Amino acid sequence: MGKEELNGGKSKRSKNPLDPEEFRRQGHKVIDFLADYYLNVADYPVRSNSQPGDLRRLLPDHAPISGEPFDAILRDIQSFIVPGLTHWMSPNYFAYFPSSGSTAGFLGEVLSSGFNVVGFNWLSSPAATELETLVMDWLAKALGLPESFLFSGGGGGVLPGTTCEAILCTMLAAREKTLRKIGTHRVADLVVYASDQAHSAFQKAARIAGVQPENYRTLPTTRADLFSLSPDLLRRTISKDMEAGLVPFFVCATVGTTSSTAVDPIKALCEVANERNLWLHVDAAYAGSSCVCPEFRHYFSGVEGASSLSLNAHKWLLTNLDCCCLWVKDPSALTAALSTDPEFLKNEASESKKVVDYKDWQVALSRRFRAMKLWLVLRTHGITGLQSILRSHVAMAERFRCLVAGDRRFEVVVPRTFAMVCFRLRPAAGLSSEETNELNRRLLEGLNESGRACMSHAVVGGDYVIRLAVGATLTEQRHVDSAWRLVQQLADALLGAAIINGR
Ligand SMILES: *Cc1c(COP(=O)(O)O)cnc(C)c1O
Repeated sequence: MGKEELNGGKSKRSKNPLDPEEFRRQGHKVIDFLADYYLNVADYPVRSNSQPGDLRRLLPDHAPISGEPFDAILRDIQSFIVPGLTHWMSPNYFAYFPSSGSTAGFLGEVLSSGFNVVGFNWLSSPAATELETLVMDWLAKALGLPESFLFSGGGGGVLPGTTCEAILCTMLAAREKTLRKIGTHRVADLVVYASDQAHSAFQKAARIAGVQPENYRTLPTTRADLFSLSPDLLRRTISKDMEAGLVPFFVCATVGTTSSTAVDPIKALCEVANERNLWLHVDAAYAGSSCVCPEFRHYFSGVEGASSLSLNAHKWLLTNLDCCCLWVKDPSALTAALSTDPEFLKNEASESKKVVDYKDWQVALSRRFRAMKLWLVLRTHGITGLQSILRSHVAMAERFRCLVAGDRRFEVVVPRTFAMVCFRLRPAAGLSSEETNELNRRLLEGLNESGRACMSHAVVGGDYVIRLAVGATLTEQRHVDSAWRLVQQLADALLGAAIINGR
């Protein structure tokens, strides 16, 4: 082959949008870019100071006519995009529930993105399906879940993107099961139950499932019960609804609520649900991962009575977004509600019933190869590695709790259960509860405006509280300590010197 031909071949190849050598070159640059980002992210203001419309003002209002060099694009990412990000990977990030990315989680994501398979059924990518079934059994064992949630025990797991999808799909499965018994004309009589602390994902699922808004029961919780759902109240409400001719069919219990990490009593709630044949889903989006540590498993005791359970591995299990883990005891209930059988997907493997076709476990047809990243995380860290990381987060949160408890101006609002602390400035003499809330709101806003840490809020029992959630992967003790010093400084400024003496 002549030299020109080689060059001709090369320039022709480089026009291919997936030229392997170009991929290698640009890929290395992206990895270097991100490595530098992780090195420097602690110095960026955690919450972006962007104002609405900032990015539109900075970027052209139309796509380029001809393609641009990759280096120019990377430079613009640094100049225009990074300043508009809130840095969830910052060690000073403590808001909501942090997103716990890691090297293994990232590389798994890159691999699945690189293979770019669309594993809707087994045949469309056998290893993608089989790795997912395997890794769901692995994780179930690592968490100490009952055998009945494993494929080997007649149940099974699947990886949707989010908890919203997990709750929707299980609710649809439960609805189908119920309506098949009583007839679809009764759909307006269906009733769903959760506590008033349940995530809004519950309401959204009920809306999509066609449950009448007046039939969403969000049962009140109390501070005395640490905001957990009362089994007696659930039982009474279900009975009352049945007497009124309604059809209770679904309960969503939460372990680790978003506002205050409250824990619903799973065992007693499952008993109530099972008396009446209701589907009980355990939403453990955040706290489910804690089960890798045996000392947290008691919060899940009785879970063998539940119909399904889900957690977000992207919240507290080092897996990059998105990765929700859902286990069901009866996969056929899911597939009865969600399966389709178009001609163009017919194949022998599916007909043999020896394979899992995950398209029938979810809303969409196409699906990402999420098992890859979860598998990488489990293999890279092992169970003991994950345990020690989660325990370090818990220890840092506990230390923060002690610091708060040691300053008389502050109170810890609910006991710390996992790696999240809810705290606030105490109501000072002469301040109404609204004024106390306002003071705490200003404290949080000052904190987030400083850019030196980022936290978020909740309202529990009428009180505005500040939430510090430890879980960002780069966070170390010193970051938690300086977040506390920052809180104290802001409190000094807010309350004035007069009250500092009370410390
Ligand atoms: C975060 C969270 C959700 C919502 O999770 P998505 O994956 O974003 O849908 C639901 N429930 C609880 C308890 C959560 O903490």
